[in-house]
Amino acid sequence: MRPERHPMTFDRLGLSEPLSRAASERGWGEPTPAQRATIPGLLAGRDIRLQAHTGSGKTAAFALPLLQQLSERPPETPRRAGALVLVPTRELAVQVGGILDALASHLSPPLKLACVHGGVSINPQMMALRGGADLLVATPGRLIDLVQHNAVRLGGVRTLVLDEADRLLDTGFADELAQALALLPRRRQNVLVSATFPPQIQALASRLLDDPLHVDVAPEPVADPAIEQHAVHVDSGQRTQLLRHMIRAGAWPRVLVFVATRHATEHVAGKLCGLGVAAAALHGEMSQGARARVLADFRAGRLTALVATDMAARGIDIAQLPVVVNYDLPRSPADHVHRIGRTGRAGARGLAVSFVSATTEAHFRLIEKRQGRRVPREQVAGFEPQSMVDAAPTTGGIKGRRKSRKDKLREAAARAA
Ligand code: AMP
Repeated sequence: MRPERHPMTFDRLGLSEPLSRAASERGWGEPTPAQRATIPGLLAGRDIRLQAHTGSGKTAAFALPLLQQLSERPPETPRRAGALVLVPTRELAVQVGGILDALASHLSPPLKLACVHGGVSINPQMMALRGGADLLVATPGRLIDLVQHNAVRLGGVRTLVLDEADRLLDTGFADELAQALALLPRRRQNVLVSATFPPQIQALASRLLDDPLHVDVAPEPVADPAIEQHAVHVDSGQRTQLLRHMIRAGAWPRVLVFVATRHATEHVAGKLCGLGVAAAALHGEMSQGARARVLADFRAGRLTALVATDMAARGIDIAQLPVVVNYDLPRSPADHVHRIGRTGRAGARGLAVSFVSATTEAHFRLIEKRQGRRVPREQVAGFEPQSMVDAAPTTGGIKGRRKSRKDKLREAAARAA
C-alpha cells in the first residue's frame, strides 16, 4: 500500500482553528517554506533568524504564531503589549498591521492591535493606546516618542520581531533602534527577519538572538542578463598592469575590484597606487572609521579603484557603479552573482570583467555553467597570456604552481559538466 500523502496545512504546524481558518480565507492553501520552518519554532519559544525576502510569506510566518501566543495569555486590564513588531517604515507598519488584523479576525476574545508610525499626528495614536494594546507594530522613532509621552509601556513585551532588519539599520536609524531596544525587558523571545545579512546585521543577530533557529529561504540568486560580462584571458602576474590599462582605455571613473583575501586587497591596492591609479583596500578587519573614510572617498570620486573581499563588499550600496572586476575569481557561482550584481544598479547598464588564467579556466567554466551563460574569452593586445596553451583542464602543470586538491576537484567537476 502506498502511504497517503497528507498536504501540509496550517493546523498541522500547531496553529489554532481560528488562525488556520483566517489563513485559508485569504486564499492560502498551504504554508510557504518560510512559514513551515518558522511557525513551529516560534510557537515553541525559540529565537529565530529568518533570512527571507518580501514574497516569501515572511509576515504571516511570524504573525500567525505571535497571535497564537497572545491569544493563549490570560486577559489583563489594562492590556499590556505582549509582543512588539518593529519595522523600518510607515508603509511597512501599515502593511504588517493590516495582515495581523486580518489574521486575528476570528480570535475570541478579540485581541487589540495597535499600529504606530511617524509621518502623522501623534494624538490619535495616543488615544488609540488608551486602555493598552496586546500587540504593537511600530517604527522605532514613534515608539520612543510614545514612551516619552507615557502613552505606552513596554514592560510586558515577551516577544520582539525586527522585520526587514537590514532596512531598520540603514543610516540614521541605528541609534533609534538601539534606544527602542533599551526600553524592552531583557528576558524575551527575539525574531530577526532580514532579506540580507551584511556584517552589521550579523552583529545585531549575534547580540540579540540566543541559540536561534536559522531559517534561510533566500532565493537562489540569478545573474541579471542586463549586465555585460567579459572574460579576459591573462597570466596572473599581468593582472594589475592589465587592470590599469583597462581603467585608462575604458576611462572607467570607478571600479570595484574583487580579490580573494584581506592580504590581497592591500597588496593589489598598493600595486595599483604604484602604477598611478588612485586605489584603496576594503576588508573586514578595518575599523569602522577607516571603512567609512574609504567608502566616502570612493563615492566622492577621489578613488578610482576599491579593492575588496566578498565579505567587505556585502552591504555596501554604491549607486552608479559602472564596472566590477573579478581580479581573483569568486569561490562560488552564488558569490559571482552577488559580485556582478553590484554593478548596473538603478537601471544603469553594468559591466563585469573576469580575469581568467590557465589555472582558473576550469573554475570559470563551472561558474558559467551554473549561471547558464557562456562568456566568450577575450584577450587584450599587449597582455596576451603565455600560459594559455596549458588551459585545457587535463594538461595543467603551470610552471611555479602546483595544483591544490581544490583545483583538482574543480577541474574534475568542470570535466563532468
Ligand atoms: P510577504 O513575504 O509576507 O511580504 O508576503 C507576500 C505575499 O504572499 C502576500 O501577498 C501574502 O498575502 C502572500 N502569502 C503569504 N502566505 C501565503 C501562503 N501560505 N500561500 C500563498 N500566499 C501567501
